[in-house]
Amino acid sequence: MSELIEKLASAHDLSDEELLEFLMQPQPEQELFAAADAVRRENYGDAVYLRGLIEFTNYCKNDCYYCGIRRSNTHAERYRLSPEQILDCCAEGYAMGYRTFVLQGGEDPYFTDERVCEIVSAIRAGYPDCRITLSIGEKTRESYQAYFEAGANRYLLRHETADPAHYRMLHPESLSLENRKRCLYDLRDIGYQVGSGFMIGSPYQKPEHILADVRFLQDLKPAMIGVGPFITHSETPFADFPSGELHFGLKIVAMLRLLFPKVLLPATTAFGTLHPQGRELALKAGGNVMMPNLSPRKVRPLYDLYENKVCVDEEAAQCRGCMEARVKSVGYRVEVSVGDSLVR
Ligand code: SAM
Repeated sequence: MSELIEKLASAHDLSDEELLEFLMQPQPEQELFAAADAVRRENYGDAVYLRGLIEFTNYCKNDCYYCGIRRSNTHAERYRLSPEQILDCCAEGYAMGYRTFVLQGGEDPYFTDERVCEIVSAIRAGYPDCRITLSIGEKTRESYQAYFEAGANRYLLRHETADPAHYRMLHPESLSLENRKRCLYDLRDIGYQVGSGFMIGSPYQKPEHILADVRFLQDLKPAMIGVGPFITHSETPFADFPSGELHFGLKIVAMLRLLFPKVLLPATTAFGTLHPQGRELALKAGGNVMMPNLSPRKVRPLYDLYENKVCVDEEAAQCRGCMEARVKSVGYRVEVSVGDSLVR
């Protein structure tokens, strides 16, 4: 086995110099994926956890340069789901075996803390055996506390890049890495199972930035790390930048599995958008979570973060069956449970 992969697999860390070398030099892919798969099986066996994703609003007050639902994209057709529609998605998902509901949306001021808490409380009352995950962006500590008390258990907020200068190149002045990190540490301290992560191949990204991402994640110790390739959207300032590269993305997934053996690692939709078997390849590189879409079919194409997003024209039940088949096709098994992280 190559020396760097062997050290990553046994020590679950590398020095800064070694990590940069790992990132910059080509690595024997099959060897790397086999090492990542062994570590994943040691910790999670062949289980793949499913989370039912409900994309409940595409209104957003932010203007991130990479994102298709950014405020300045006036061509985006906006929608919001009502509390009843969200609860219908949960009912459908529960019947299909989902035990985690992920409520994701743009930062939509319509959803005040009061409205978010009402929705979370209603889901909590209806599904006491389920985990509720929120992914609704940067809020005050008090807001996060209120959602937690209403019954939310998990929160997904990618840090996007841990390098302040790179962060500035991806976001307008109104957003800062400092506040992003403050949010993540607040969430962790309140008691959420936190998911963070970053885009791979985002404009201006350098290996040094990924090194900073790793060091930040080692400090945060999240329960989940969500990474996926950047994918170009024509109605953004990054319209002329190429999408991230599949094989580099898979290398990062495998690297994260070796660095963070107990973390939950989703095979994200962005991988499926880059390549028809992108999510299966991400599972084979160490991924162990999938997030099938539970949103009503008519709004799915409108949650248009990037172009050619997959699974926008399927019903939830089709999505569920399709995920199960994809998971089986690469030698894993869908596990119907809340699927908490082993990170403590
Ligand atoms: N507003 C919430 C937040 O900021 O965390 C949740 C929604 S946000 C659209 C979810 C994630 O989509 C972001 O964290 C970002 O990494 C990802 N995303 C946005 N635009 C993308 C693009 N062009 N390519 C790949 N991922 C993208």
